[in-house]
Amino acid sequence: MPDPQGPAVGPGPQRPAGPDPRRPDGVPDPRRPAGPDPRRPDGVLGVDVGGTKVALRAEAAGRPAYDRVFHWPRGGDATADLAVLAAEADRLRGAWGPVGAVGVAMPATTDAAGTVTTWPGRPGWAGLDLAGALRRVFPDATTAVADDGDLAALAEARHAGHDDVVYLGVGTGVGGGVVLAGRSVPGRSSAEVGHMVVALDGARCDCGRRGCLQSVASGPATLRRAGAARGAEVSFDDLRAGLRDGRTWAVDAVEASCRALAAAVVSLGELLDPAVAIVGGGFAAGLPGFVPLVADRARSAGRPGRPAPPVLPAALGGLSSLHGAVELARGLAGAPHSRSPVSTP
Ligand SMILES: [Zn+2]
Repeated sequence: MPDPQGPAVGPGPQRPAGPDPRRPDGVPDPRRPAGPDPRRPDGVLGVDVGGTKVALRAEAAGRPAYDRVFHWPRGGDATADLAVLAAEADRLRGAWGPVGAVGVAMPATTDAAGTVTTWPGRPGWAGLDLAGALRRVFPDATTAVADDGDLAALAEARHAGHDDVVYLGVGTGVGGGVVLAGRSVPGRSSAEVGHMVVALDGARCDCGRRGCLQSVASGPATLRRAGAARGAEVSFDDLRAGLRDGRTWAVDAVEASCRALAAAVVSLGELLDPAVAIVGGGFAAGLPGFVPLVADRARSAGRPGRPAPPVLPAALGGLSSLHGAVELARGLAGAPHSRSPVSTP
């Protein structure tokens, strides 16, 4: 997910994979497209790439959407994976029709040229020229790749009807993004909300530093803390049950996570003054009361004249990155963004 050099995402084509005639050197041009190209098909495709499976959603005015999920083959070989993706693209064209723009949500780290640098989920992709591969799979479409957390933030912001939003997704890590004036920010790289430092002397993060938000508030971090207090390993179901029964080891572990998330929300509020903070991700969504607790702890940490932003639960669940990818494709196609709420699971 971290992308130290990649450009931002949003409705604009900040990371176009296709050649840009105005930029023969291949350097991505951050400018927005001039408008819809009448020669291109009006269909847009969002692709949400995961470590084990991929979700596709194609949309066009006046036609039912195309939704499909497929699994990567075993083995993690990038060539075999891309052959499956190409077959899925053919299937889409045959069953639904051509697309003129493709937005791809990626958890992997890619460089500015669109090459995968690291991806723990599918290590075989390291070194893959993803931008070039997408051009070959979708030769008739404009394509772009963006960070899945940024795209999830964009989709949640659109769904919530707000232009200024911070989004925190709590799962195996803490991902998310920032949307200001309806666009993903910052411009040069993704917003690494999970690596915001909330406890200088806190636990060690996967990145090697101490006290990152995700070292305190991710699902595994919360379960580890609960297990240490209980004196026995704690599964997600154990934690749910422990919370329901008011067990101290469960309540305290979740409290610490929600306080860390509240600290992040308050700090983001001071910096960016978003209209709302949205908290999602599978871990947060699976624990009743989790998001309201973040909201409460954030509310108590506001200050006179600068209350914390209201905290809302995410609405799109596991589909937020996919809908964000569709929005990215719409931006590439010059199509209007969906202001109305997208379908919810
Ligand atoms: Zn970190």
